[in-house]
Amino acid sequence: MTDQPALRLFNSLTRELEPFAPIHPGEARVYSCGPTVYNYPHIGNMRAYVFADVLGRTLSARGYALTHIINITDVGHLTDDADAGEDKLEAAAAARAQSIHAIARHYTEAYWADVAALNIRAPAQWSIATDYVPQMIAFAQTIADRHCYDLPGGLYFDTASVADYGRLARAETTVGTGRIDDVAGKRHPADFAIWRKTPPGETRQMEWDSPWGRGAPGWHLECSVMSGALLGFPFDIHTGGIDHREIHHPNEIAQNQAYCGAGGLGDAANSGAKLWMHNNFLVDRSGKMSKSSGEFLRLQLLIDRGYHPMAYRLMCLQAHYRSELEFSWDALGAALTRLKRLVMAVVRLREAATPVEPGPKFADALARFDAAMADDLNTPLALTVLDEIVAQKRVDPGEKLGAIARIDAVLGLNLANLDRITLRLRPIAALIDEAAITAILTERRAARAAQDFPRSDHLRDQLTQAGVEVMDGDPLGWDWHPAAR
Ligand code: AMP
Ligand code: ZN
Repeated sequence: MTDQPALRLFNSLTRELEPFAPIHPGEARVYSCGPTVYNYPHIGNMRAYVFADVLGRTLSARGYALTHIINITDVGHLTDDADAGEDKLEAAAAARAQSIHAIARHYTEAYWADVAALNIRAPAQWSIATDYVPQMIAFAQTIADRHCYDLPGGLYFDTASVADYGRLARAETTVGTGRIDDVAGKRHPADFAIWRKTPPGETRQMEWDSPWGRGAPGWHLECSVMSGALLGFPFDIHTGGIDHREIHHPNEIAQNQAYCGAGGLGDAANSGAKLWMHNNFLVDRSGKMSKSSGEFLRLQLLIDRGYHPMAYRLMCLQAHYRSELEFSWDALGAALTRLKRLVMAVVRLREAATPVEPGPKFADALARFDAAMADDLNTPLALTVLDEIVAQKRVDPGEKLGAIARIDAVLGLNLANLDRITLRLRPIAALIDEAAITAILTERRAARAAQDFPRSDHLRDQLTQAGVEVMDGDPLGWDWHPAAR
Protein backbone atom coordinates (compact mmCIF):
# COMPACT_ATOMS: atom_id res chain seq x y z
CA MET A 1 0.00 0.00 0.00
CA THR A 2 2.93 2.29 0.69
CA ASP A 3 5.17 2.91 -2.32
CA GLN A 4 2.55 2.49 -5.01
CA PRO A 5 1.25 5.52 -6.89
CA ALA A 6 -2.03 6.81 -5.44
CA LEU A 7 -5.06 5.06 -6.88
CA ARG A 8 -7.20 7.50 -8.81
CA LEU A 9 -10.68 6.56 -9.93
CA PHE A 10 -13.22 8.39 -12.06
CA ASN A 11 -16.21 9.52 -10.04
CA SER A 12 -19.29 9.84 -12.24
CA LEU A 13 -20.84 12.17 -9.69
CA THR A 14 -18.13 14.81 -10.01
CA ARG A 15 -17.00 13.68 -13.49
CA GLU A 16 -13.45 13.85 -12.18
CA LEU A 17 -10.60 11.53 -11.30
CA GLU A 18 -10.34 11.34 -7.54
CA PRO A 19 -7.85 9.66 -5.21
CA PHE A 20 -9.26 6.64 -3.46
CA ALA A 21 -9.36 7.59 0.22
CA PRO A 22 -11.11 4.88 2.23
CA ILE A 23 -13.78 5.93 4.70
CA HIS A 24 -12.66 3.22 7.14
CA PRO A 25 -8.86 3.08 7.22
CA GLY A 26 -7.47 -0.03 5.55
CA GLU A 27 -10.88 -1.06 4.21
CA ALA A 28 -12.69 -0.80 0.92
CA ARG A 29 -16.45 -1.25 0.82
CA VAL A 30 -17.95 -1.70 -2.63
CA TYR A 31 -21.51 -2.32 -3.81
CA SER A 32 -22.27 -3.45 -7.37
CA CYS A 33 -25.75 -3.50 -8.83
CA GLY A 34 -26.43 -7.11 -9.68
CA PRO A 35 -28.39 -8.85 -12.38
CA THR A 36 -32.14 -8.99 -12.75
CA VAL A 37 -32.64 -12.73 -12.85
CA TYR A 38 -35.52 -13.08 -15.31
CA ASN A 39 -33.29 -14.35 -18.12
CA TYR A 40 -29.69 -15.32 -18.82
CA PRO A 41 -27.15 -12.54 -18.51
CA HIS A 42 -25.71 -11.44 -21.84
CA ILE A 43 -22.00 -10.86 -22.21
CA GLY A 44 -22.55 -7.10 -21.93
CA ASN A 45 -23.93 -7.62 -18.43
CA MET A 46 -20.88 -9.71 -17.62
CA ARG A 47 -18.63 -6.82 -18.67
CA ALA A 48 -20.04 -4.95 -15.67
CA TYR A 49 -18.88 -7.72 -13.31
CA VAL A 50 -15.48 -8.15 -14.96
CA PHE A 51 -15.01 -4.43 -14.33
CA ALA A 52 -16.17 -4.66 -10.70
CA ASP A 53 -13.90 -7.68 -10.22
CA VAL A 54 -10.84 -5.86 -11.56
CA LEU A 55 -11.67 -2.94 -9.28
CA GLY A 56 -11.97 -5.28 -6.28
CA ARG A 57 -8.76 -7.12 -7.14
CA THR A 58 -6.93 -3.81 -7.50
CA LEU A 59 -8.10 -2.75 -4.05
CA SER A 60 -7.16 -6.13 -2.55
CA ALA A 61 -3.71 -6.01 -4.17
CA ARG A 62 -3.18 -2.64 -2.54
CA GLY A 63 -3.81 -4.21 0.83
CA TYR A 64 -7.32 -2.96 1.54
CA ALA A 65 -9.65 -5.39 3.25
CA LEU A 66 -12.37 -5.55 0.62
CA THR A 67 -16.05 -6.02 1.37
CA HIS A 68 -17.82 -6.40 -1.94
CA ILE A 69 -21.58 -6.85 -2.19
CA ILE A 70 -23.43 -7.78 -5.36
CA ASN A 71 -27.19 -8.03 -5.20
CA ILE A 72 -29.53 -10.32 -7.04
CA THR A 73 -32.66 -8.51 -8.22
CA ASP A 74 -35.54 -10.95 -8.00
CA VAL A 75 -38.28 -8.36 -7.55
CA GLY A 76 -39.06 -4.80 -8.49
CA HIS A 77 -37.21 -4.17 -11.77
CA LEU A 78 -39.86 -3.03 -14.22
CA THR A 79 -39.68 -3.54 -17.96
CA ASP A 80 -38.92 0.18 -18.16
CA ASP A 81 -36.01 1.29 -15.94
CA ALA A 82 -37.99 4.23 -14.66
CA ASP A 83 -41.49 3.85 -13.55
CA ALA A 84 -43.49 2.02 -16.14
CA GLY A 85 -44.28 -1.48 -17.30
CA GLU A 86 -44.50 -4.72 -15.40
CA ASP A 87 -42.12 -6.44 -13.04
CA LYS A 88 -39.66 -8.34 -15.24
CA LEU A 89 -39.88 -11.44 -13.07
CA GLU A 90 -43.68 -11.42 -12.87
CA ALA A 91 -43.81 -11.05 -16.66
CA ALA A 92 -41.31 -13.87 -17.27
CA ALA A 93 -43.16 -16.17 -14.87
CA ALA A 94 -46.49 -15.46 -16.54
CA ALA A 95 -45.06 -15.94 -20.04
CA ARG A 96 -43.48 -19.27 -19.16
CA ALA A 97 -46.11 -20.52 -16.71
CA GLN A 98 -43.46 -21.08 -14.07
CA SER A 99 -43.11 -19.83 -10.53
CA ILE A 100 -41.01 -16.74 -9.97
CA HIS A 101 -38.99 -18.73 -7.49
CA ALA A 102 -38.06 -21.32 -10.15
CA ILE A 103 -37.18 -18.62 -12.67
CA ALA A 104 -35.10 -16.61 -10.24
CA ARG A 105 -33.23 -19.68 -9.07
CA HIS A 106 -32.48 -20.93 -12.56
CA TYR A 107 -31.12 -17.62 -13.83
CA THR A 108 -29.25 -16.82 -10.63
CA GLU A 109 -27.41 -20.10 -10.99
CA ALA A 110 -26.74 -19.40 -14.67
CA TYR A 111 -25.31 -16.01 -13.69
CA TRP A 112 -23.12 -17.58 -11.03
CA ALA A 113 -21.82 -20.08 -13.60
CA ASP A 114 -20.79 -17.17 -15.85
CA VAL A 115 -19.19 -15.42 -12.90
CA ALA A 116 -17.10 -18.52 -12.18
CA ALA A 117 -16.24 -19.11 -15.84
CA LEU A 118 -14.91 -15.56 -16.09
CA ASN A 119 -12.81 -15.98 -12.94
CA ILE A 120 -14.78 -13.22 -11.22
CA ARG A 121 -14.24 -13.53 -7.48
CA ALA A 122 -17.37 -14.17 -5.45
CA PRO A 123 -18.33 -11.12 -3.38
CA ALA A 124 -18.51 -11.17 0.41
CA GLN A 125 -22.24 -11.60 -0.04
CA TRP A 126 -24.78 -12.03 -2.80
CA SER A 127 -27.68 -10.10 -1.36
CA ILE A 128 -31.03 -11.34 -2.60
CA ALA A 129 -33.60 -8.55 -2.86
CA THR A 130 -36.57 -10.58 -1.59
CA ASP A 131 -34.65 -11.34 1.62
CA TYR A 132 -34.65 -7.63 2.46
CA VAL A 133 -38.30 -6.64 2.06
CA PRO A 134 -38.88 -5.91 5.79
CA GLN A 135 -35.83 -3.61 5.76
CA MET A 136 -37.14 -1.95 2.59
CA ILE A 137 -40.47 -1.25 4.29
CA ALA A 138 -38.66 0.15 7.33
CA PHE A 139 -36.47 2.37 5.11
CA ALA A 140 -39.54 3.63 3.23
CA GLN A 141 -41.30 4.38 6.55
CA THR A 142 -38.33 6.45 7.65
CA ILE A 143 -38.47 8.70 4.60
CA ALA A 144 -42.20 8.58 3.78
CA ASP A 145 -43.36 11.64 5.76
CA ARG A 146 -40.79 14.07 4.45
CA HIS A 147 -40.06 12.74 0.98
CA CYS A 148 -42.97 10.68 -0.34
CA TYR A 149 -46.63 10.93 -1.24
CA ASP A 150 -49.29 8.32 -1.53
CA LEU A 151 -51.12 7.68 -4.80
CA PRO A 152 -53.56 4.88 -5.66
CA GLY A 153 -50.75 3.04 -7.48
CA GLY A 154 -48.09 3.32 -4.84
CA LEU A 155 -45.92 5.35 -2.55
CA TYR A 156 -44.07 7.89 -4.67
CA PHE A 157 -40.75 9.56 -4.02
CA ASP A 158 -40.88 13.33 -4.42
CA THR A 159 -37.69 14.10 -6.30
CA ALA A 160 -38.03 17.82 -5.57
CA SER A 161 -37.61 17.06 -1.86
CA VAL A 162 -33.86 16.48 -2.09
CA ALA A 163 -31.12 18.82 -3.24
CA ASP A 164 -29.43 18.33 -6.59
CA TYR A 165 -31.73 15.58 -7.82
CA GLY A 166 -30.37 14.05 -11.01
CA ARG A 167 -26.88 15.48 -10.74
CA LEU A 168 -25.35 12.09 -11.52
CA ALA A 169 -27.14 12.06 -14.87
CA ARG A 170 -26.17 15.68 -15.59
CA ALA A 171 -29.69 16.18 -16.82
CA GLU A 172 -31.60 17.72 -13.93
CA THR A 173 -34.57 18.64 -16.01
CA THR A 174 -34.85 15.54 -18.16
CA VAL A 175 -34.35 12.64 -15.75
CA GLY A 176 -37.55 10.70 -15.76
CA THR A 177 -39.32 12.87 -18.29
CA GLY A 178 -40.97 11.86 -21.50
CA ARG A 179 -41.79 8.39 -20.26
CA ILE A 180 -44.73 6.47 -21.52
CA ASP A 181 -47.42 5.32 -19.17
CA ASP A 182 -47.18 8.26 -16.83
CA VAL A 183 -49.15 8.11 -13.63
CA ALA A 184 -51.94 10.54 -12.73
CA GLY A 185 -51.09 12.55 -9.64
CA LYS A 186 -47.33 12.40 -9.97
CA ARG A 187 -45.92 15.76 -8.97
CA HIS A 188 -42.99 15.56 -11.31
CA PRO A 189 -42.34 13.15 -14.17
CA ALA A 190 -39.13 11.98 -12.50
CA ASP A 191 -40.93 10.93 -9.30
CA PHE A 192 -40.92 7.18 -8.90
CA ALA A 193 -42.73 4.53 -6.88
CA ILE A 194 -40.71 3.16 -4.00
CA TRP A 195 -43.63 0.87 -3.17
CA ARG A 196 -45.99 -0.39 -5.88
CA LYS A 197 -49.43 -1.36 -4.67
CA THR A 198 -51.09 -4.42 -6.11
CA PRO A 199 -54.10 -3.09 -8.08
CA PRO A 200 -57.47 -3.94 -6.51
CA GLY A 201 -58.77 -7.32 -7.66
CA GLU A 202 -55.34 -8.53 -8.73
CA THR A 203 -52.91 -10.82 -6.99
CA ARG A 204 -49.28 -10.97 -7.73
CA GLN A 205 -46.97 -13.91 -7.16
CA MET A 206 -44.76 -11.60 -5.17
CA GLU A 207 -46.49 -9.23 -2.76
CA TRP A 208 -46.05 -8.20 0.82
CA ASP A 209 -48.14 -6.26 3.33
CA SER A 210 -46.98 -2.74 4.02
CA PRO A 211 -48.33 0.47 5.60
CA TRP A 212 -49.28 1.50 2.03
CA GLY A 213 -51.14 -1.68 1.22
CA ARG A 214 -50.20 -4.99 -0.29
CA GLY A 215 -47.59 -4.68 -2.96
CA ALA A 216 -43.95 -4.90 -3.87
CA PRO A 217 -40.89 -2.68 -3.44
CA GLY A 218 -39.43 -0.53 -6.20
CA TRP A 219 -36.15 -1.55 -7.77
CA HIS A 220 -34.29 1.59 -6.72
CA LEU A 221 -35.34 1.07 -3.11
CA GLU A 222 -33.79 -2.35 -2.88
CA CYS A 223 -30.27 -1.21 -3.79
CA SER A 224 -30.41 1.71 -1.34
CA VAL A 225 -31.51 -0.65 1.41
CA MET A 226 -29.09 -3.49 0.76
CA SER A 227 -26.06 -1.26 0.24
CA GLY A 228 -26.83 0.75 3.39
CA ALA A 229 -27.63 -2.34 5.47
CA LEU A 230 -24.56 -4.30 4.45
CA LEU A 231 -21.93 -1.60 4.03
CA GLY A 232 -23.22 1.33 6.12
CA PHE A 233 -23.72 4.85 4.72
CA PRO A 234 -21.59 6.34 3.37
CA PHE A 235 -19.52 3.55 1.86
CA ASP A 236 -16.64 3.81 -0.57
CA ILE A 237 -17.69 2.82 -4.09
CA HIS A 238 -20.93 2.03 -5.89
CA THR A 239 -20.65 0.47 -9.36
CA GLY A 240 -22.93 -0.34 -12.26
CA GLY A 241 -23.25 -0.10 -16.01
CA ILE A 242 -23.50 3.34 -17.57
CA ASP A 243 -27.26 2.97 -18.11
CA HIS A 244 -27.62 3.14 -14.33
CA ARG A 245 -26.10 6.61 -14.34
CA GLU A 246 -29.31 7.91 -15.92
CA ILE A 247 -32.18 6.66 -13.74
CA HIS A 248 -31.44 3.90 -11.26
CA HIS A 249 -28.52 5.55 -9.50
CA PRO A 250 -29.93 9.10 -9.43
CA ASN A 251 -32.97 7.56 -7.75
CA GLU A 252 -30.89 5.52 -5.32
CA ILE A 253 -28.94 8.65 -4.49
CA ALA A 254 -32.12 10.64 -3.84
CA GLN A 255 -33.38 7.95 -1.45
CA ASN A 256 -30.02 7.78 0.31
CA GLN A 257 -30.00 11.55 0.78
CA ALA A 258 -33.52 11.36 2.22
CA TYR A 259 -32.66 8.49 4.53
CA CYS A 260 -29.41 9.97 5.80
CA GLY A 261 -30.93 13.42 6.22
CA ALA A 262 -28.00 14.60 4.17
CA GLY A 263 -27.60 17.77 2.18
CA GLY A 264 -26.68 18.46 -1.41
CA LEU A 265 -24.36 16.54 -3.63
CA GLY A 266 -21.59 19.14 -3.52
CA ASP A 267 -20.29 16.65 -0.97
CA ALA A 268 -20.37 13.32 -2.82
CA ALA A 269 -20.56 11.39 0.45
CA ASN A 270 -24.12 12.71 0.94
CA SER A 271 -25.12 10.44 -1.94
CA GLY A 272 -24.54 7.35 0.19
CA ALA A 273 -21.25 6.45 -1.50
CA LYS A 274 -18.13 8.52 -2.09
CA LEU A 275 -17.48 7.25 -5.59
CA TRP A 276 -20.00 6.23 -8.22
CA MET A 277 -18.29 4.29 -10.98
CA HIS A 278 -19.82 3.15 -14.25
CA ASN A 279 -18.59 0.83 -16.94
CA ASN A 280 -19.42 1.68 -20.52
CA PHE A 281 -21.38 -0.72 -22.70
CA LEU A 282 -20.38 -3.65 -24.78
CA VAL A 283 -22.13 -2.97 -28.06
CA ASP A 284 -23.11 -5.40 -30.71
CA ARG A 285 -24.13 -4.02 -34.07
CA SER A 286 -25.95 -7.22 -35.00
CA GLY A 287 -28.48 -6.66 -32.22
CA LYS A 288 -27.94 -10.07 -30.63
CA MET A 289 -27.36 -8.62 -27.19
CA SER A 290 -30.99 -7.96 -26.52
CA LYS A 291 -32.41 -10.58 -24.21
CA SER A 292 -35.66 -10.35 -26.12
CA SER A 293 -34.05 -11.49 -29.38
CA GLY A 294 -34.14 -15.26 -29.77
CA GLU A 295 -30.43 -16.10 -29.81
CA PHE A 296 -28.58 -13.54 -27.81
CA LEU A 297 -24.95 -13.22 -26.90
CA ARG A 298 -24.53 -15.13 -23.72
CA LEU A 299 -21.29 -16.60 -22.52
CA GLN A 300 -22.43 -20.13 -23.30
CA LEU A 301 -22.83 -19.20 -26.98
CA LEU A 302 -19.18 -18.16 -27.07
CA ILE A 303 -18.18 -21.42 -25.41
CA ASP A 304 -20.37 -23.43 -27.79
CA ARG A 305 -18.49 -21.87 -30.67
CA GLY A 306 -15.13 -22.87 -29.26
CA TYR A 307 -14.06 -19.65 -27.54
CA HIS A 308 -12.78 -20.07 -24.03
CA PRO A 309 -14.62 -17.68 -21.65
CA MET A 310 -11.31 -16.16 -20.54
CA ALA A 311 -10.84 -14.88 -24.10
CA TYR A 312 -13.91 -12.74 -23.41
CA ARG A 313 -12.43 -11.53 -20.12
CA LEU A 314 -9.24 -10.58 -21.97
CA MET A 315 -11.30 -8.84 -24.64
CA CYS A 316 -12.92 -6.74 -21.90
CA LEU A 317 -9.55 -5.86 -20.38
CA GLN A 318 -8.23 -4.76 -23.78
CA ALA A 319 -10.57 -1.78 -23.58
CA HIS A 320 -10.70 0.80 -20.82
CA TYR A 321 -13.83 0.23 -18.75
CA ARG A 322 -15.09 3.73 -19.57
CA SER A 323 -14.83 3.16 -23.32
CA GLU A 324 -17.49 1.54 -25.38
CA LEU A 325 -16.37 -1.89 -26.54
CA GLU A 326 -17.65 -3.29 -29.80
CA PHE A 327 -18.22 -7.00 -29.92
CA SER A 328 -17.19 -9.01 -32.95
CA TRP A 329 -16.25 -12.64 -33.41
CA ASP A 330 -13.00 -11.48 -35.03
CA ALA A 331 -12.08 -9.40 -32.00
CA LEU A 332 -12.91 -12.34 -29.75
CA GLY A 333 -10.76 -14.59 -31.94
CA ALA A 334 -7.88 -12.11 -31.67
CA ALA A 335 -8.26 -12.03 -27.89
CA LEU A 336 -8.17 -15.83 -27.83
CA THR A 337 -4.94 -15.81 -29.84
CA ARG A 338 -3.40 -13.32 -27.44
CA LEU A 339 -4.53 -15.41 -24.49
CA LYS A 340 -3.03 -18.56 -26.04
CA ARG A 341 0.28 -16.78 -26.48
CA LEU A 342 0.28 -15.76 -22.82
CA VAL A 343 -0.79 -19.18 -21.64
CA MET A 344 1.80 -21.05 -23.70
CA ALA A 345 4.55 -18.78 -22.39
CA VAL A 346 3.43 -19.35 -18.82
CA VAL A 347 3.12 -23.11 -19.37
CA ARG A 348 6.75 -23.20 -20.56
CA LEU A 349 7.84 -21.23 -17.50
CA ARG A 350 5.84 -23.51 -15.22
CA GLU A 351 7.67 -26.50 -16.70
CA ALA A 352 10.99 -24.85 -15.85
CA ALA A 353 10.42 -23.26 -12.46
CA THR A 354 8.12 -22.38 -9.59
CA PRO A 355 7.20 -18.75 -8.88
CA VAL A 356 9.43 -16.75 -6.56
CA GLU A 357 9.52 -13.10 -5.54
CA PRO A 358 10.52 -11.03 -8.62
CA GLY A 359 13.89 -9.29 -8.33
CA PRO A 360 15.13 -5.87 -9.49
CA LYS A 361 15.02 -6.81 -13.18
CA PHE A 362 11.24 -6.67 -12.95
CA ALA A 363 10.95 -3.58 -10.76
CA ASP A 364 10.55 -1.10 -13.59
CA ALA A 365 7.88 -3.06 -15.43
CA LEU A 366 5.95 -3.82 -12.24
CA ALA A 367 6.04 -0.15 -11.30
CA ARG A 368 4.60 0.71 -14.69
CA PHE A 369 1.92 -1.93 -14.23
CA ASP A 370 0.96 -0.40 -10.88
CA ALA A 371 0.96 3.08 -12.42
CA ALA A 372 -1.35 1.92 -15.23
CA MET A 373 -3.83 0.38 -12.80
CA ALA A 374 -3.59 3.39 -10.48
CA ASP A 375 -4.64 5.57 -13.40
CA ASP A 376 -8.35 4.70 -13.23
CA LEU A 377 -7.73 1.00 -13.98
CA ASN A 378 -5.99 1.38 -17.31
CA THR A 379 -6.10 -2.32 -18.17
CA PRO A 380 -5.17 -1.93 -21.88
CA LEU A 381 -1.88 -0.35 -20.85
CA ALA A 382 -1.40 -2.84 -18.01
CA LEU A 383 -1.73 -5.68 -20.52
CA THR A 384 1.09 -4.29 -22.63
CA VAL A 385 3.31 -4.38 -19.54
CA LEU A 386 2.32 -8.01 -19.03
CA ASP A 387 3.29 -8.76 -22.64
CA GLU A 388 6.63 -7.05 -22.04
CA ILE A 389 7.36 -9.13 -18.97
CA VAL A 390 6.40 -12.32 -20.77
CA ALA A 391 8.87 -11.39 -23.54
CA GLN A 392 11.72 -10.50 -21.17
CA LYS A 393 14.87 -12.48 -22.02
CA ARG A 394 17.74 -13.71 -19.82
CA VAL A 395 15.80 -13.51 -16.58
CA ASP A 396 15.16 -16.09 -13.93
CA PRO A 397 12.03 -18.08 -14.93
CA GLY A 398 10.85 -18.37 -11.31
CA GLU A 399 11.05 -14.59 -10.87
CA LYS A 400 9.31 -14.08 -14.17
CA LEU A 401 6.51 -16.37 -13.00
CA GLY A 402 6.37 -14.42 -9.75
CA ALA A 403 6.05 -11.13 -11.64
CA ILE A 404 3.33 -12.56 -13.87
CA ALA A 405 1.49 -13.90 -10.81
CA ARG A 406 1.55 -10.46 -9.19
CA ILE A 407 -0.02 -8.96 -12.30
CA ASP A 408 -2.51 -11.73 -12.75
CA ALA A 409 -3.74 -11.39 -9.18
CA VAL A 410 -5.14 -8.07 -10.45
CA LEU A 411 -6.14 -8.91 -14.02
CA GLY A 412 -7.55 -12.31 -13.09
CA LEU A 413 -6.73 -14.15 -16.32
CA ASN A 414 -5.99 -17.31 -14.32
CA LEU A 415 -2.71 -17.78 -16.18
CA ALA A 416 -1.33 -20.09 -13.49
CA ASN A 417 -3.98 -22.70 -14.21
CA LEU A 418 -4.81 -22.51 -17.90
CA ASP A 419 -3.10 -24.72 -20.45
CA ARG A 420 -3.45 -25.72 -24.06
CA ILE A 421 -5.97 -28.45 -23.38
CA THR A 422 -8.33 -26.36 -21.24
CA LEU A 423 -8.17 -23.45 -23.68
CA ARG A 424 -9.01 -25.45 -26.75
CA LEU A 425 -12.74 -25.88 -26.63
CA ARG A 426 -14.44 -27.92 -29.29
CA PRO A 427 -17.39 -26.07 -30.83
CA ILE A 428 -20.65 -27.74 -30.04
CA ALA A 429 -21.33 -28.05 -33.77
CA ALA A 430 -18.01 -29.80 -34.42
CA LEU A 431 -18.31 -33.10 -36.26
CA ILE A 432 -15.17 -34.63 -34.84
CA ASP A 433 -13.55 -35.12 -31.44
CA GLU A 434 -10.03 -34.51 -30.16
CA ALA A 435 -8.90 -38.14 -30.45
CA ALA A 436 -9.94 -38.33 -34.10
CA ILE A 437 -8.26 -34.99 -34.83
CA THR A 438 -5.03 -36.19 -33.25
CA ALA A 439 -5.17 -39.47 -35.18
CA ILE A 440 -5.63 -37.67 -38.52
CA LEU A 441 -2.86 -35.19 -37.69
CA THR A 442 -0.48 -38.04 -36.84
CA GLU A 443 -1.26 -39.73 -40.11
CA ARG A 444 -0.82 -36.44 -41.93
CA ARG A 445 2.59 -35.88 -40.37
CA ALA A 446 3.64 -39.32 -41.56
CA ALA A 447 2.33 -38.57 -45.07
CA ARG A 448 4.30 -35.34 -45.18
CA ALA A 449 7.43 -37.05 -43.93
CA ALA A 450 7.01 -39.54 -46.78
CA GLN A 451 6.45 -36.59 -49.16
CA ASP A 452 2.98 -37.93 -49.98
CA PHE A 453 1.48 -34.48 -50.39
CA PRO A 454 -1.78 -35.49 -52.08
CA ARG A 455 -2.52 -37.69 -49.05
CA SER A 456 -1.51 -34.92 -46.66
CA ASP A 457 -3.80 -32.42 -48.47
CA HIS A 458 -6.63 -34.89 -48.44
CA LEU A 459 -6.32 -35.32 -44.68
CA ARG A 460 -6.23 -31.58 -44.22
CA ASP A 461 -9.42 -31.20 -46.28
CA GLN A 462 -11.03 -33.86 -44.17
CA LEU A 463 -10.33 -31.80 -41.06
CA THR A 464 -11.47 -28.56 -42.70
CA GLN A 465 -14.79 -30.17 -43.52
CA ALA A 466 -15.12 -31.15 -39.89
CA GLY A 467 -14.61 -27.52 -38.85
CA VAL A 468 -10.98 -27.85 -37.81
CA GLU A 469 -8.33 -25.46 -39.05
CA VAL A 470 -4.88 -27.04 -39.27
CA MET A 471 -2.14 -24.61 -38.36
CA ASP A 472 1.10 -25.74 -40.00
CA GLY A 473 4.17 -24.08 -38.52
CA ASP A 474 2.05 -22.24 -35.95
CA PRO A 475 4.50 -20.30 -33.77
CA LEU A 476 2.33 -21.14 -30.79
CA GLY A 477 2.74 -24.84 -31.56
CA TRP A 478 -1.02 -25.13 -31.48
CA ASP A 479 -1.46 -27.68 -34.39
CA TRP A 480 -5.14 -27.09 -34.84
CA HIS A 481 -7.98 -24.87 -33.89
CA PRO A 482 -11.72 -25.02 -34.39
CA ALA A 483 -12.24 -23.04 -37.61
CA ALA A 484 -13.71 -19.54 -37.26
CA ARG A 485 -17.30 -19.20 -38.33
P1 AMP B 1 -29.45 -5.94 -15.48
O1 AMP B 1 -29.46 -7.43 -15.30
O2 AMP B 1 -30.18 -5.49 -16.68
O3 AMP B 1 -29.94 -5.23 -14.24
O4 AMP B 1 -27.95 -5.50 -15.71
C1 AMP B 1 -26.85 -5.99 -15.01
C2 AMP B 1 -25.65 -5.06 -15.21
O5 AMP B 1 -25.21 -5.06 -16.57
C3 AMP B 1 -25.92 -3.61 -14.86
O6 AMP B 1 -24.81 -3.08 -14.16
C4 AMP B 1 -26.07 -2.94 -16.21
O7 AMP B 1 -25.79 -1.58 -16.14
C5 AMP B 1 -25.03 -3.70 -17.00
N1 AMP B 1 -25.21 -3.70 -18.46
C6 AMP B 1 -26.36 -3.87 -19.15
N2 AMP B 1 -26.12 -3.91 -20.48
C7 AMP B 1 -24.78 -3.77 -20.65
C8 AMP B 1 -23.90 -3.72 -21.78
N3 AMP B 1 -24.36 -3.88 -23.02
N4 AMP B 1 -22.58 -3.55 -21.57
C9 AMP B 1 -22.09 -3.42 -20.32
N5 AMP B 1 -22.86 -3.45 -19.20
C10 AMP B 1 -24.19 -3.62 -19.35
ZN1 ZN C 1 -28.96 -1.31 -8.16
